[in-house]
Amino acid sequence: MSNNSASGLPTAAAAGVVPAGAELRRVVTGATWSEGPVWLPDRSVVRWSDIPGNRILEVNPADGVLQVHRTDVEFTNGRTLDLAGNVIQASHGRRAIERETADGEVSIVVDQWDGRRLNSPNDVIVASDGAIWFSDPPYGIVQAHEGHLGDPEYGGCHVFRYDERAGKLTAAITDVEEPNGLAFSPDESILYVTDTSCVLRKDGSGNHHIVAYDVAADGSCSNRRVFAVIDKGVADGIRVDAEGRVWSSSEDAVLVYAPDGELLTAIPVPERVGNMCFGGAAGSTLFIAAHTSIYAIETTTTGAGRPAR
Ligand code: MG
Repeated sequence: MSNNSASGLPTAAAAGVVPAGAELRRVVTGATWSEGPVWLPDRSVVRWSDIPGNRILEVNPADGVLQVHRTDVEFTNGRTLDLAGNVIQASHGRRAIERETADGEVSIVVDQWDGRRLNSPNDVIVASDGAIWFSDPPYGIVQAHEGHLGDPEYGGCHVFRYDERAGKLTAAITDVEEPNGLAFSPDESILYVTDTSCVLRKDGSGNHHIVAYDVAADGSCSNRRVFAVIDKGVADGIRVDAEGRVWSSSEDAVLVYAPDGELLTAIPVPERVGNMCFGGAAGSTLFIAAHTSIYAIETTTTGAGRPAR
């Protein structure tokens, strides 16, 4: 998809997802492998994970200066904000979901299911009711450069829902091979989950698609269907915008899908895309974590907000 015209897709501007004339720009480079970006509105920075570098980085897009937020961070990956504005992030090394407050205090939120350790939480989102949803593939316990080698303890790779007030961790989805990126539709009635089970296999098998589920008020998920198949690379991280479109990572582009699964456009990116987030002063800038760098492009939308319920 490095060439939009060759793919037959409209350009991003023609598809209406970025303003006319918008151009992708590299904000900063210097990471090893970038993941887990989140916009911190109080400080106007993108914070993200350099997973193999075992550090958390930040950049203010106004100056483009690489800032090392913390080192020896136990291989953090995806992150988001909770309802109070604290950072919630996945840790391969601690095999946990953790919270980092504005004053820098880090605490474990959850690291066990039914008395057994998690694999290596990868990506995390917070619903409007405060529930913390996260994926738990094996990548941080089977690759020494992304965590600590270890054994899986519960024998699966689930998507979990954590009700922090009740202290209850529920396996919400158990039929995705290696769940990775997560995102809700704007009304939280649909949960999108990426499956990247092809990544570590040498025989060409495994999934490289996005599945969708209907989500009930109690958090139960049903009606699994394949939403989109990624032909080049995988959908690692994904985000949903205010209009319900799904923005997906891939080998060489950000792919934008309509809510019905139609591929609307591809925004070429010069490095392999790991994840992305909406941010900036108006919330309409897409920040893209791609291999060594953070890129940015203005869009015509914002990230899907949390609905009141
Ligand atoms: Mg991921």
